[in-house]
Amino acid sequence: MRIEDDIKLDYSDVLIRPKRSTLTSRYDVDMTRTYKFVHSEKEWTGMPIMAANMDTVGTPDMHKALSEYDMITCPARHYLKNDVTAFRGKNICMMGGIDDVPAIITHNTKWDFIGIDVANGYTISVIDAVKSLRHHVSDATIVVGNVVTADMTQELILAGADIIKVGVGPGSVCTTRLKTGIGYPQLSAVMECADAAHGLNAHIIADGGCTNSGDIVKAFAAGADFVMIGGILAGHDECDGVIKNGMMEFYGMASESAMSRHNVPHREYRGVEGKTVKVPYKGPVKNTLIDILSGIRSACTYVGAKRLKSLSKCATFVRVNNTHNTIFGEE
Ligand code: 5GP
Repeated sequence: MRIEDDIKLDYSDVLIRPKRSTLTSRYDVDMTRTYKFVHSEKEWTGMPIMAANMDTVGTPDMHKALSEYDMITCPARHYLKNDVTAFRGKNICMMGGIDDVPAIITHNTKWDFIGIDVANGYTISVIDAVKSLRHHVSDATIVVGNVVTADMTQELILAGADIIKVGVGPGSVCTTRLKTGIGYPQLSAVMECADAAHGLNAHIIADGGCTNSGDIVKAFAAGADFVMIGGILAGHDECDGVIKNGMMEFYGMASESAMSRHNVPHREYRGVEGKTVKVPYKGPVKNTLIDILSGIRSACTYVGAKRLKSLSKCATFVRVNNTHNTIFGEE
C-alpha cells in the first residue's frame, strides 16, 4: 500500500480567475475546433461537446438536435445491437463493449467515430480490442475508455486509439466511488490525461461530472478536447423516457434499470454501479444547448480567449474550499 500525497481536484474545487481582455463581445469568440487525429489522420471540425451513450440521452432525436450545433452524439449501445441504421450522417460516435468489436468493424464506415467503452479501461482485453480494431479498420477514428491516468492514456494511444475517454466515477448517476472506493478527481484526471495524450498528438474526452456549463468550461480549460455530458441533457423532449408529474427518469448504464431493460443477467460478480433518478422535465434540449454555448462564450470573454482553442492557455484556476453540494435529481 502507498499513498499519493499531492492533492487531486474536482471541478467544484476550482474557479477560473478573470483576466483583462480586449474582446468586446462574447459573439467574437470562435467556438469551433478542428482536430486531426493521430492514427486515422482524419480531420473533424465542430463544437466538441458529446451526448453520452446512455439509453435516455443517446437517441436519434438528440442527434438531430445536437447536429444543429455541430455537436456529437454517442448512440446508446442497444442501437448497435438492434438497429445500426437508426443513426446516419455526421457527428456520430458509435461505441460498444469488447463483445461488440465485430459489429463495429462491420459497420464502421457509417460513423465519424467508433470506439470501445468500458467502465474499466485498465484491462489487457481492452488493449487487445483496440489493437484488433486498429488492425481491421486502419483509417477509423477510434475512441477508447475509460481511464484516469497518464500511463494508461499513453498505452491505449500507442495501441492504436486516437481519442481517450477520461473519467472513473464522476458521473451524475454513477455509484462506482461509493460502491468500490475507486475513482480519481475529474479535473486532475483531465489535466493529467490531456497532457499525456497531447504529447503523443492524440486527444481526450472529459467524460462525466459536469453539472452545469461552468463545469464544461473548466473541463475545456483543463485541456479536454471534447466534453461528454449525460445528466445535463437528461429531462428533455429528445430523451428516451416519459414525463410523469413534471419529471423524467434518468439512469446509469450500470444501474438496475439499465440491466433489467437490456436483460443483463445478474451474476454475483457483476455489481450494480449506477442509479436511477428523476430529473425535472425541461422541454426542448435546444434551450439547454444555447445556455451551454453562451456560458462557454462568456467564459472565453472573461479570460481573453478569442477562440475556444485558446481557453486552456488563457485560464488560471484558483482553488476554492467549496464542499460538494451538487445534488443531482431525486432518487
Ligand atoms: P454525467 O454527465 O451524467 O455526469 O456523466 C455521464 C457519464 O457517466 C457517462 O458518459 C458514463 O461514462 C458514466 N456513466 C453512465 N452510466 C453509468 C453507470 O451506471 N455507472 C457508472 N459508473 N458510470 C456511468
